[in-house]
Amino acid sequence: MSHAVAEVAGALRSRFAGEILCPEDSEFAAAHTIWNGMVQRTPGLILRCANVADVQAAVRACSVAGVLTAIRCGGHSLAGFSSCDGGVVLDLSRMRDVTVDPSRRTARAAGGCLLGSIDTATQAAGLAFPAGVVSHTGASGLILGGGTGWLTRLCGLSCDNVEAFTLVTADGALLRADSGENSDLYWALRGGGGNFGVVTEFELRLHPIRCVLLASAWSKGADALRVLRFWREFMPAVPDALKWNVSLMLAPDTAQVPAELRGRVAVSHGVAWFGGEDEGRLWLKKILAAVAPSAACTETKSFLALQTMADSEFPHGARYYTKSGYFLQLDDSTIERMVESLATVPSARSQIELAYLGGAAARVDAAETAFGDRGAPFITNLLAHWNDAHHDEVNVAWVRRLFATLRPRMKPGVYVNFMSGDEAERVPEAYSARWERLLAIKQKYDPRNFFRLNQNIRAANTARSVS
Ligand code: FAD
Repeated sequence: MSHAVAEVAGALRSRFAGEILCPEDSEFAAAHTIWNGMVQRTPGLILRCANVADVQAAVRACSVAGVLTAIRCGGHSLAGFSSCDGGVVLDLSRMRDVTVDPSRRTARAAGGCLLGSIDTATQAAGLAFPAGVVSHTGASGLILGGGTGWLTRLCGLSCDNVEAFTLVTADGALLRADSGENSDLYWALRGGGGNFGVVTEFELRLHPIRCVLLASAWSKGADALRVLRFWREFMPAVPDALKWNVSLMLAPDTAQVPAELRGRVAVSHGVAWFGGEDEGRLWLKKILAAVAPSAACTETKSFLALQTMADSEFPHGARYYTKSGYFLQLDDSTIERMVESLATVPSARSQIELAYLGGAAARVDAAETAFGDRGAPFITNLLAHWNDAHHDEVNVAWVRRLFATLRPRMKPGVYVNFMSGDEAERVPEAYSARWERLLAIKQKYDPRNFFRLNQNIRAANTARSVS
Protein backbone atom coordinates (compact mmCIF):
# COMPACT_ATOMS: atom_id res chain seq x y z
CA MET A 1 0.00 0.00 0.00
CA SER A 2 1.43 3.40 -0.95
CA HIS A 3 2.04 6.06 1.68
CA ALA A 4 -0.85 8.19 0.35
CA VAL A 5 -3.30 5.29 0.39
CA ALA A 6 -2.22 4.36 3.94
CA GLU A 7 -2.86 8.00 4.89
CA VAL A 8 -6.45 7.70 3.60
CA ALA A 9 -7.04 4.47 5.54
CA GLY A 10 -5.59 6.05 8.68
CA ALA A 11 -7.67 9.22 8.35
CA LEU A 12 -10.93 7.27 8.04
CA ARG A 13 -10.42 4.36 10.43
CA SER A 14 -12.09 5.91 13.48
CA ARG A 15 -15.07 7.52 11.74
CA PHE A 16 -16.10 5.33 8.80
CA ALA A 17 -19.41 3.48 9.21
CA GLY A 18 -18.80 1.18 6.22
CA GLU A 19 -15.93 -1.20 5.56
CA ILE A 20 -12.32 -0.32 4.83
CA LEU A 21 -10.90 -3.24 2.85
CA CYS A 22 -7.14 -3.68 2.45
CA PRO A 23 -5.46 -6.17 0.06
CA GLU A 24 -4.70 -8.54 2.94
CA ASP A 25 -8.39 -8.76 3.98
CA SER A 26 -10.15 -12.00 3.00
CA GLU A 27 -13.02 -10.15 1.30
CA PHE A 28 -10.73 -8.00 -0.82
CA ALA A 29 -10.28 -10.38 -3.77
CA ALA A 30 -14.02 -10.70 -4.34
CA ALA A 31 -14.65 -7.03 -3.61
CA HIS A 32 -12.19 -5.66 -6.14
CA THR A 33 -13.39 -7.54 -9.24
CA ILE A 34 -15.38 -5.60 -11.79
CA TRP A 35 -17.66 -6.87 -14.55
CA ASN A 36 -15.28 -6.75 -17.55
CA GLY A 37 -12.55 -9.36 -17.04
CA MET A 38 -10.48 -7.64 -19.72
CA VAL A 39 -9.87 -4.51 -17.59
CA GLN A 40 -9.39 -5.83 -14.04
CA ARG A 41 -7.21 -3.65 -11.81
CA THR A 42 -5.84 -4.04 -8.29
CA PRO A 43 -6.56 -1.06 -6.04
CA GLY A 44 -4.66 -0.38 -2.83
CA LEU A 45 -7.83 0.15 -0.79
CA ILE A 46 -11.59 -0.26 -1.11
CA LEU A 47 -13.86 2.05 0.87
CA ARG A 48 -17.29 0.46 0.99
CA CYS A 49 -19.44 3.39 2.06
CA ALA A 50 -22.46 2.82 4.28
CA ASN A 51 -23.98 6.29 3.99
CA VAL A 52 -23.61 9.82 2.66
CA ALA A 53 -21.30 10.88 5.51
CA ASP A 54 -18.93 8.05 4.52
CA VAL A 55 -18.91 9.27 0.92
CA GLN A 56 -18.10 12.80 2.05
CA ALA A 57 -15.33 11.63 4.38
CA ALA A 58 -13.89 9.34 1.70
CA VAL A 59 -13.85 12.03 -0.98
CA ARG A 60 -12.21 14.52 1.40
CA ALA A 61 -9.55 12.03 2.56
CA CYS A 62 -8.70 10.89 -0.97
CA SER A 63 -8.61 14.44 -2.25
CA VAL A 64 -6.32 15.65 0.54
CA ALA A 65 -3.98 12.68 0.06
CA GLY A 66 -4.03 13.19 -3.71
CA VAL A 67 -4.73 9.53 -4.52
CA LEU A 68 -6.26 8.23 -7.71
CA THR A 69 -9.88 7.45 -6.84
CA ALA A 70 -12.39 5.33 -8.73
CA ILE A 71 -16.14 5.50 -8.10
CA ARG A 72 -17.96 2.20 -8.31
CA CYS A 73 -21.70 1.63 -8.49
CA GLY A 74 -22.41 -1.58 -10.45
CA GLY A 75 -18.85 -2.00 -11.74
CA HIS A 76 -20.09 -2.35 -15.35
CA SER A 77 -18.00 0.34 -16.98
CA LEU A 78 -16.86 -1.32 -20.21
CA ALA A 79 -13.68 0.72 -19.94
CA GLY A 80 -12.94 -0.46 -16.38
CA PHE A 81 -13.21 3.02 -14.87
CA SER A 82 -14.68 1.72 -11.60
CA SER A 83 -11.35 0.39 -10.41
CA CYS A 84 -7.71 1.45 -10.57
CA ASP A 85 -4.26 0.06 -9.90
CA GLY A 86 -2.84 1.09 -6.55
CA GLY A 87 -5.42 3.80 -5.80
CA VAL A 88 -8.71 3.83 -3.91
CA VAL A 89 -12.09 2.45 -4.96
CA LEU A 90 -15.06 4.20 -3.46
CA ASP A 91 -17.59 1.38 -3.55
CA LEU A 92 -21.29 2.29 -3.23
CA SER A 93 -22.69 -1.25 -3.22
CA ARG A 94 -24.06 -0.93 0.32
CA MET A 95 -26.14 2.09 -0.70
CA ARG A 96 -29.02 0.49 -2.60
CA ASP A 97 -32.17 1.83 -0.92
CA VAL A 98 -35.08 2.73 -3.17
CA THR A 99 -38.17 4.56 -1.86
CA VAL A 100 -41.18 4.83 -4.14
CA ASP A 101 -43.94 7.44 -3.91
CA PRO A 102 -46.75 5.83 -5.97
CA SER A 103 -49.02 8.88 -5.79
CA ARG A 104 -46.40 11.22 -7.28
CA ARG A 105 -44.95 8.48 -9.51
CA THR A 106 -41.45 9.20 -8.27
CA ALA A 107 -38.70 7.28 -6.51
CA ARG A 108 -35.56 8.10 -4.60
CA ALA A 109 -32.74 5.71 -5.47
CA ALA A 110 -29.41 5.65 -3.66
CA GLY A 111 -26.16 5.98 -5.63
CA GLY A 112 -25.18 2.30 -5.42
CA CYS A 113 -28.37 0.84 -6.93
CA LEU A 114 -28.32 -1.73 -9.67
CA LEU A 115 -31.06 -1.48 -12.29
CA GLY A 116 -32.63 -4.55 -10.69
CA SER A 117 -32.85 -2.73 -7.31
CA ILE A 118 -34.91 0.01 -8.94
CA ASP A 119 -37.07 -2.29 -11.08
CA THR A 120 -37.98 -4.52 -8.13
CA ALA A 121 -39.02 -1.60 -5.93
CA THR A 122 -40.89 0.36 -8.60
CA GLN A 123 -42.70 -2.64 -10.07
CA ALA A 124 -44.18 -3.37 -6.64
CA ALA A 125 -46.19 -0.19 -7.29
CA GLY A 126 -46.82 -1.01 -10.98
CA LEU A 127 -44.36 1.67 -12.06
CA ALA A 128 -41.18 1.62 -14.13
CA PHE A 129 -38.07 3.73 -14.58
CA PRO A 130 -36.70 3.81 -18.15
CA ALA A 131 -33.20 2.33 -18.00
CA GLY A 132 -31.02 -0.39 -19.53
CA VAL A 133 -31.68 -3.97 -20.58
CA VAL A 134 -29.52 -5.96 -18.13
CA SER A 135 -30.56 -5.87 -14.48
CA HIS A 136 -27.10 -6.32 -12.96
CA THR A 137 -25.89 -3.04 -14.56
CA GLY A 138 -25.28 -0.18 -12.12
CA ALA A 139 -27.89 2.57 -12.26
CA SER A 140 -25.53 5.46 -11.49
CA GLY A 141 -23.06 4.99 -14.34
CA LEU A 142 -25.91 4.29 -16.75
CA ILE A 143 -28.07 7.27 -15.80
CA LEU A 144 -25.19 9.76 -15.64
CA GLY A 145 -24.06 8.81 -19.15
CA GLY A 146 -27.62 8.97 -20.55
CA GLY A 147 -29.24 5.55 -20.32
CA THR A 148 -30.99 3.79 -23.20
CA GLY A 149 -33.22 0.74 -23.05
CA TRP A 150 -36.58 -0.74 -23.90
CA LEU A 151 -38.48 2.39 -22.78
CA THR A 152 -36.28 5.02 -24.47
CA ARG A 153 -38.70 5.69 -27.31
CA LEU A 154 -41.75 5.84 -25.06
CA CYS A 155 -40.36 7.69 -22.02
CA GLY A 156 -36.99 9.18 -23.03
CA LEU A 157 -33.48 8.47 -21.81
CA SER A 158 -32.86 7.57 -18.18
CA CYS A 159 -31.28 11.00 -17.61
CA ASP A 160 -34.40 12.69 -19.03
CA ASN A 161 -36.33 11.12 -16.16
CA VAL A 162 -34.22 12.45 -13.29
CA GLU A 163 -35.81 15.35 -11.41
CA ALA A 164 -32.93 15.95 -9.00
CA PHE A 165 -29.51 14.69 -7.99
CA THR A 166 -27.85 14.83 -4.58
CA LEU A 167 -24.08 14.62 -4.91
CA VAL A 168 -20.81 14.97 -3.07
CA THR A 169 -18.46 17.27 -4.95
CA ALA A 170 -14.65 17.13 -5.00
CA ASP A 171 -14.37 19.28 -1.85
CA GLY A 172 -16.65 16.92 0.08
CA ALA A 173 -19.67 19.27 0.02
CA LEU A 174 -23.16 17.82 -0.37
CA LEU A 175 -25.16 19.59 -3.09
CA ARG A 176 -28.58 19.28 -4.64
CA ALA A 177 -28.91 19.81 -8.37
CA ASP A 178 -32.30 20.29 -9.98
CA SER A 179 -33.95 22.70 -12.38
CA GLY A 180 -33.88 25.52 -9.79
CA GLU A 181 -30.84 24.80 -7.62
CA ASN A 182 -27.37 24.40 -9.17
CA SER A 183 -29.09 24.17 -12.52
CA ASP A 184 -25.76 24.17 -14.40
CA LEU A 185 -24.85 20.99 -12.58
CA TYR A 186 -28.32 19.54 -13.20
CA TRP A 187 -27.75 20.10 -16.91
CA ALA A 188 -24.26 18.56 -16.86
CA LEU A 189 -25.19 15.50 -14.81
CA ARG A 190 -27.72 14.46 -17.44
CA GLY A 191 -25.24 12.87 -19.83
CA GLY A 192 -21.91 14.20 -18.53
CA GLY A 193 -21.06 10.99 -16.64
CA GLY A 194 -19.17 10.80 -13.35
CA ASN A 195 -17.14 13.96 -13.98
CA PHE A 196 -18.73 16.22 -11.36
CA GLY A 197 -19.10 14.32 -8.10
CA VAL A 198 -20.44 11.20 -6.43
CA VAL A 199 -24.22 11.03 -6.75
CA THR A 200 -25.66 9.67 -3.54
CA GLU A 201 -29.32 9.94 -4.53
CA PHE A 202 -31.39 10.28 -7.69
CA GLU A 203 -34.99 11.52 -7.70
CA LEU A 204 -36.59 9.61 -10.53
CA ARG A 205 -39.76 10.07 -12.57
CA LEU A 206 -41.69 6.81 -13.03
CA HIS A 207 -44.18 5.52 -15.59
CA PRO A 208 -47.13 3.13 -15.23
CA ILE A 209 -45.94 -0.06 -16.95
CA ARG A 210 -46.47 -3.62 -15.73
CA CYS A 211 -46.09 -5.79 -18.77
CA VAL A 212 -45.06 -5.86 -22.38
CA LEU A 213 -45.95 -7.72 -25.53
CA LEU A 214 -42.73 -9.17 -26.88
CA ALA A 215 -41.88 -10.88 -30.15
CA SER A 216 -38.54 -12.69 -30.29
CA ALA A 217 -37.43 -13.97 -33.67
CA TRP A 218 -34.47 -15.32 -35.64
CA SER A 219 -33.72 -14.69 -39.32
CA LYS A 220 -30.98 -16.40 -41.27
CA GLY A 221 -27.93 -14.42 -42.38
CA ALA A 222 -28.92 -14.66 -46.04
CA ASP A 223 -32.03 -12.61 -45.16
CA ALA A 224 -30.14 -9.93 -43.20
CA LEU A 225 -30.05 -7.33 -45.97
CA ARG A 226 -33.72 -7.79 -46.76
CA VAL A 227 -34.91 -7.60 -43.13
CA LEU A 228 -32.65 -4.70 -42.20
CA ARG A 229 -33.85 -2.77 -45.23
CA PHE A 230 -37.39 -3.27 -43.98
CA TRP A 231 -36.40 -2.35 -40.40
CA ARG A 232 -34.70 0.93 -41.42
CA GLU A 233 -37.66 2.04 -43.56
CA PHE A 234 -40.29 0.92 -41.08
CA MET A 235 -39.02 2.32 -37.76
CA PRO A 236 -39.26 6.07 -38.47
CA ALA A 237 -43.06 5.84 -38.78
CA VAL A 238 -43.95 3.55 -35.86
CA PRO A 239 -45.50 4.72 -32.55
CA ASP A 240 -43.22 5.42 -29.59
CA ALA A 241 -44.66 2.36 -27.86
CA LEU A 242 -42.78 0.10 -30.28
CA LYS A 243 -39.09 -0.75 -29.76
CA TRP A 244 -37.42 -3.14 -32.16
CA ASN A 245 -33.80 -4.11 -31.43
CA VAL A 246 -31.73 -6.15 -33.82
CA SER A 247 -28.44 -8.02 -33.37
CA LEU A 248 -26.24 -9.64 -35.97
CA MET A 249 -24.33 -12.63 -34.62
CA LEU A 250 -23.56 -16.30 -34.92
CA ALA A 251 -26.76 -17.93 -33.65
CA PRO A 252 -26.26 -19.70 -30.32
CA ASP A 253 -26.88 -23.39 -29.70
CA THR A 254 -30.10 -22.97 -27.71
CA ALA A 255 -33.60 -24.40 -27.93
CA GLN A 256 -35.09 -21.08 -29.16
CA VAL A 257 -32.91 -21.14 -32.27
CA PRO A 258 -33.80 -23.47 -35.16
CA ALA A 259 -31.15 -26.20 -35.53
CA GLU A 260 -30.22 -25.14 -39.06
CA LEU A 261 -29.30 -21.61 -37.88
CA ARG A 262 -27.08 -22.57 -34.92
CA GLY A 263 -23.47 -21.48 -35.31
CA ARG A 264 -24.31 -19.58 -38.51
CA VAL A 265 -24.67 -15.87 -39.20
CA ALA A 266 -28.15 -14.82 -38.09
CA VAL A 267 -30.28 -11.85 -37.10
CA SER A 268 -31.85 -11.82 -33.66
CA HIS A 269 -34.93 -9.61 -33.24
CA GLY A 270 -36.49 -8.33 -30.03
CA VAL A 271 -39.69 -6.35 -30.67
CA ALA A 272 -41.42 -4.88 -27.62
CA TRP A 273 -44.79 -3.15 -27.50
CA PHE A 274 -45.77 -1.08 -24.45
CA GLY A 275 -49.33 -0.04 -25.42
CA GLY A 276 -52.73 -1.68 -25.66
CA GLU A 277 -52.52 -5.38 -26.41
CA ASP A 278 -54.84 -5.52 -29.44
CA GLU A 279 -53.00 -2.76 -31.27
CA GLY A 280 -49.66 -4.31 -30.31
CA ARG A 281 -50.61 -7.69 -31.72
CA LEU A 282 -51.41 -6.02 -35.04
CA TRP A 283 -48.02 -4.30 -35.14
CA LEU A 284 -46.12 -7.44 -34.26
CA LYS A 285 -48.10 -9.45 -36.82
CA LYS A 286 -47.24 -6.90 -39.48
CA ILE A 287 -43.54 -7.03 -38.59
CA LEU A 288 -43.34 -10.81 -38.50
CA ALA A 289 -45.22 -11.09 -41.80
CA ALA A 290 -42.71 -8.77 -43.47
CA VAL A 291 -39.62 -10.28 -41.88
CA ALA A 292 -40.74 -13.91 -42.37
CA PRO A 293 -38.24 -15.16 -39.77
CA SER A 294 -37.05 -18.74 -39.42
CA ALA A 295 -38.46 -18.85 -35.89
CA ALA A 296 -40.62 -16.50 -33.84
CA CYS A 297 -42.41 -16.41 -30.53
CA THR A 298 -44.85 -13.75 -29.30
CA GLU A 299 -45.70 -13.56 -25.61
CA THR A 300 -46.83 -11.23 -22.87
CA LYS A 301 -44.10 -10.75 -20.31
CA SER A 302 -43.96 -8.96 -17.00
CA PHE A 303 -41.74 -5.88 -17.07
CA LEU A 304 -39.42 -7.57 -14.56
CA ALA A 305 -39.08 -10.61 -16.84
CA LEU A 306 -38.26 -8.32 -19.78
CA GLN A 307 -35.62 -6.48 -17.75
CA THR A 308 -33.86 -9.66 -16.65
CA MET A 309 -34.14 -11.83 -19.77
CA ALA A 310 -30.69 -10.83 -21.10
CA ASP A 311 -28.88 -11.05 -17.74
CA SER A 312 -27.16 -14.38 -18.38
CA GLU A 313 -25.96 -13.36 -21.85
CA PHE A 314 -23.44 -10.93 -20.34
CA PRO A 315 -21.81 -12.72 -17.40
CA HIS A 316 -19.44 -11.07 -14.94
CA GLY A 317 -15.77 -11.84 -15.47
CA ALA A 318 -15.91 -12.62 -19.20
CA ARG A 319 -13.82 -10.43 -21.50
CA TYR A 320 -15.45 -7.61 -23.47
CA TYR A 321 -14.36 -4.90 -25.89
CA THR A 322 -16.60 -2.42 -27.67
CA LYS A 323 -16.80 0.42 -30.14
CA SER A 324 -19.91 2.34 -30.96
CA GLY A 325 -21.30 5.00 -33.25
CA TYR A 326 -24.36 6.55 -34.89
CA PHE A 327 -25.73 6.48 -38.40
CA LEU A 328 -28.12 8.96 -39.91
CA GLN A 329 -28.95 6.34 -42.51
CA LEU A 330 -28.17 2.68 -42.62
CA ASP A 331 -27.28 2.06 -46.25
CA ASP A 332 -27.05 -1.31 -47.95
CA SER A 333 -23.28 -1.43 -48.06
CA THR A 334 -23.07 -0.72 -44.30
CA ILE A 335 -25.35 -3.67 -43.64
CA GLU A 336 -23.33 -5.84 -46.03
CA ARG A 337 -20.04 -4.92 -44.32
CA MET A 338 -21.54 -5.83 -40.95
CA VAL A 339 -22.78 -9.20 -42.18
CA GLU A 340 -19.48 -9.96 -43.95
CA SER A 341 -17.51 -9.19 -40.78
CA LEU A 342 -19.17 -12.11 -39.03
CA ALA A 343 -17.44 -14.54 -41.41
CA THR A 344 -14.23 -13.84 -39.47
CA VAL A 345 -15.58 -13.13 -35.99
CA PRO A 346 -13.19 -14.85 -33.56
CA SER A 347 -15.79 -15.47 -30.85
CA ALA A 348 -19.26 -16.96 -31.21
CA ARG A 349 -20.48 -14.73 -28.35
CA SER A 350 -19.70 -11.42 -30.07
CA GLN A 351 -22.44 -9.40 -31.69
CA ILE A 352 -23.27 -6.26 -33.64
CA GLU A 353 -26.13 -4.58 -31.80
CA LEU A 354 -28.40 -2.17 -33.67
CA ALA A 355 -31.11 0.03 -32.21
CA TYR A 356 -33.40 2.68 -33.63
CA LEU A 357 -33.82 5.51 -31.12
CA GLY A 358 -36.10 8.43 -32.08
CA GLY A 359 -39.34 8.78 -30.08
CA ALA A 360 -39.43 10.69 -26.78
CA ALA A 361 -35.62 10.78 -26.46
CA ALA A 362 -35.25 12.53 -29.81
CA ARG A 363 -37.91 15.13 -29.00
CA VAL A 364 -35.93 16.56 -26.07
CA ASP A 365 -34.07 19.63 -27.32
CA ALA A 366 -30.35 18.98 -27.89
CA ALA A 367 -29.41 21.90 -25.61
CA GLU A 368 -31.59 20.78 -22.70
CA THR A 369 -29.15 18.24 -21.29
CA ALA A 370 -25.46 17.41 -21.70
CA PHE A 371 -26.28 14.08 -23.37
CA GLY A 372 -24.41 13.73 -26.65
CA ASP A 373 -26.51 12.96 -29.66
CA ARG A 374 -30.27 12.73 -29.97
CA GLY A 375 -30.40 13.41 -33.69
CA ALA A 376 -29.00 10.23 -35.24
CA PRO A 377 -31.61 7.52 -35.00
CA PHE A 378 -29.45 4.44 -35.70
CA ILE A 379 -27.00 3.44 -33.00
CA THR A 380 -24.64 0.49 -33.28
CA ASN A 381 -22.54 -1.21 -30.68
CA LEU A 382 -19.83 -3.60 -31.88
CA LEU A 383 -19.42 -5.86 -28.88
CA ALA A 384 -16.74 -8.53 -28.72
CA HIS A 385 -17.25 -11.06 -25.92
CA TRP A 386 -14.90 -13.96 -25.22
CA ASN A 387 -13.41 -15.86 -22.30
CA ASP A 388 -9.75 -16.65 -22.88
CA ALA A 389 -7.14 -13.94 -22.24
CA HIS A 390 -4.97 -15.48 -24.97
CA HIS A 391 -7.61 -14.37 -27.46
CA ASP A 392 -7.64 -10.69 -26.42
CA GLU A 393 -5.67 -9.43 -29.38
CA VAL A 394 -7.68 -11.13 -32.09
CA ASN A 395 -11.03 -10.08 -30.60
CA VAL A 396 -9.99 -6.47 -30.09
CA ALA A 397 -8.59 -6.40 -33.63
CA TRP A 398 -11.90 -7.68 -35.04
CA VAL A 399 -13.82 -4.79 -33.43
CA ARG A 400 -11.25 -2.20 -34.48
CA ARG A 401 -11.19 -3.44 -38.06
CA LEU A 402 -14.97 -3.41 -38.38
CA PHE A 403 -15.17 0.02 -36.75
CA ALA A 404 -12.55 1.40 -39.17
CA THR A 405 -14.65 0.10 -42.07
CA LEU A 406 -17.88 1.59 -40.75
CA ARG A 407 -16.49 4.84 -39.35
CA PRO A 408 -16.58 6.86 -42.65
CA ARG A 409 -20.31 6.11 -42.92
CA MET A 410 -21.05 7.14 -39.33
CA LYS A 411 -22.22 10.51 -38.11
CA PRO A 412 -19.57 11.95 -35.74
CA GLY A 413 -20.65 11.30 -32.18
CA VAL A 414 -20.69 8.44 -29.71
CA TYR A 415 -22.63 7.43 -26.63
CA VAL A 416 -20.15 7.67 -23.72
CA ASN A 417 -21.48 4.56 -21.96
CA PHE A 418 -20.66 2.40 -24.98
CA MET A 419 -17.03 3.54 -25.20
CA SER A 420 -13.95 1.55 -24.30
CA GLY A 421 -11.03 2.82 -22.23
CA ASP A 422 -8.82 3.63 -25.22
CA GLU A 423 -11.02 6.33 -26.75
CA ALA A 424 -10.23 9.49 -24.74
CA GLU A 425 -9.87 11.43 -27.99
CA ARG A 426 -13.54 10.74 -28.80
CA VAL A 427 -14.91 12.40 -25.65
CA PRO A 428 -15.21 15.91 -27.20
CA GLU A 429 -16.77 14.24 -30.22
CA ALA A 430 -19.33 12.60 -27.92
CA TYR A 431 -20.48 15.98 -26.60
CA SER A 432 -19.87 18.13 -29.71
CA ALA A 433 -21.76 21.44 -29.28
CA ARG A 434 -22.05 20.87 -25.51
CA TRP A 435 -18.31 20.40 -24.95
CA GLU A 436 -17.30 23.98 -24.07
CA ARG A 437 -20.14 24.37 -21.57
CA LEU A 438 -19.19 21.05 -19.97
CA LEU A 439 -15.56 22.18 -19.67
CA ALA A 440 -16.68 25.35 -17.86
CA ILE A 441 -18.89 23.42 -15.43
CA LYS A 442 -16.11 20.89 -14.80
CA GLN A 443 -13.76 23.78 -14.05
CA LYS A 444 -16.28 25.22 -11.58
CA TYR A 445 -17.04 22.03 -9.63
CA ASP A 446 -13.90 19.90 -10.07
CA PRO A 447 -11.02 22.19 -11.09
CA ARG A 448 -8.34 19.67 -10.08
CA ASN A 449 -10.00 16.85 -12.01
CA PHE A 450 -10.33 14.68 -8.91
CA PHE A 451 -13.06 12.71 -10.72
CA ARG A 452 -11.02 11.59 -13.69
CA LEU A 453 -11.64 7.87 -13.99
CA ASN A 454 -14.46 8.35 -16.49
CA GLN A 455 -14.85 9.49 -20.09
CA ASN A 456 -13.03 12.56 -18.93
CA ILE A 457 -14.12 16.12 -19.59
CA ARG A 458 -10.88 18.07 -19.54
CA ALA A 459 -9.37 20.75 -21.74
CA ALA A 460 -6.47 18.49 -22.75
CA ASN A 461 -8.91 16.29 -24.66
CA THR A 462 -10.00 19.18 -26.87
CA ALA A 463 -6.79 19.31 -28.85
CA ARG A 464 -7.09 15.63 -29.73
CA SER A 465 -10.71 15.88 -30.82
CA VAL A 466 -11.59 13.77 -33.85
CA SER A 467 -14.16 15.15 -36.23
P1 FAD B 1 -19.47 1.59 -12.80
O1 FAD B 1 -18.46 0.77 -13.52
O2 FAD B 1 -19.77 1.25 -11.41
O3 FAD B 1 -19.11 3.10 -12.91
C1 FAD B 1 -18.77 3.65 -14.15
C2 FAD B 1 -18.47 5.10 -14.00
O4 FAD B 1 -19.68 5.75 -13.64
C3 FAD B 1 -17.50 5.43 -12.89
O5 FAD B 1 -16.21 5.42 -13.35
C4 FAD B 1 -17.95 6.79 -12.46
O6 FAD B 1 -17.37 7.72 -13.33
C5 FAD B 1 -19.41 6.76 -12.71
N1 FAD B 1 -20.18 6.50 -11.49
C6 FAD B 1 -20.65 5.32 -11.03
N2 FAD B 1 -21.39 5.55 -9.94
C7 FAD B 1 -21.39 6.86 -9.71
C8 FAD B 1 -22.01 7.70 -8.75
N3 FAD B 1 -22.81 7.23 -7.80
N4 FAD B 1 -21.79 9.03 -8.83
C9 FAD B 1 -21.01 9.55 -9.80
N5 FAD B 1 -20.41 8.80 -10.74
C10 FAD B 1 -20.61 7.47 -10.70
N6 FAD B 1 -26.06 1.32 -21.20
C11 FAD B 1 -27.26 1.75 -21.62
O7 FAD B 1 -27.47 2.94 -21.77
N7 FAD B 1 -28.27 0.88 -21.87
C12 FAD B 1 -28.14 -0.45 -21.70
O8 FAD B 1 -29.08 -1.21 -21.93
C13 FAD B 1 -26.88 -0.94 -21.25
N8 FAD B 1 -26.70 -2.26 -21.04
C14 FAD B 1 -25.52 -2.68 -20.53
C15 FAD B 1 -25.37 -4.02 -20.23
C16 FAD B 1 -24.19 -4.49 -19.72
C17 FAD B 1 -24.03 -5.95 -19.39
C18 FAD B 1 -23.12 -3.59 -19.50
C19 FAD B 1 -21.82 -4.06 -18.96
C20 FAD B 1 -23.26 -2.25 -19.79
C21 FAD B 1 -24.46 -1.78 -20.30
N9 FAD B 1 -24.63 -0.44 -20.61
C22 FAD B 1 -25.85 0.00 -21.02
C23 FAD B 1 -23.54 0.52 -20.43
C24 FAD B 1 -23.63 1.11 -19.04
O9 FAD B 1 -24.49 2.23 -19.10
C25 FAD B 1 -22.26 1.55 -18.53
O10 FAD B 1 -21.40 0.46 -18.53
C26 FAD B 1 -22.35 2.18 -17.14
O11 FAD B 1 -21.13 2.81 -16.84
C27 FAD B 1 -22.63 1.15 -16.09
O12 FAD B 1 -22.85 1.76 -14.87
P2 FAD B 1 -22.24 1.19 -13.51
O13 FAD B 1 -22.78 2.00 -12.42
O14 FAD B 1 -22.38 -0.29 -13.44
O15 FAD B 1 -20.73 1.55 -13.75
